[in-house]
Amino acid sequence: MEEESFVMIGDKQLKCFFCSGSEFKKLNTKLNEKWASSLGIEMFSPEGLAYICSNCGYKHEFFKLNK
Ligand SMILES: [Zn+2]
Repeated sequence: MEEESFVMIGDKQLKCFFCSGSEFKKLNTKLNEKWASSLGIEMFSPEGLAYICSNCGYKHEFFKLNK
C-alpha cells in the first residue's frame, strides 16, 4: 500500500465521502483478483483502483471508464 495525500479523479480532487478527508491509501484492485479467483469468484472488472481514507477507513473504488 502506498500513501497518497492528494488524489485526482479526472479533474476533481478526491475527498472522503464520509469524513471529507483528503489523505488516502491506494490499493490496486488487481491484487484482489488472485484471492477472488482462488475462491472461484469471477470479478466483473479487474482493472480498478481503490482509495482507503487514512482518517476513517472508508473505501472508495474506481474502475476504468471507457470514454
Ligand atoms: Zn474518511
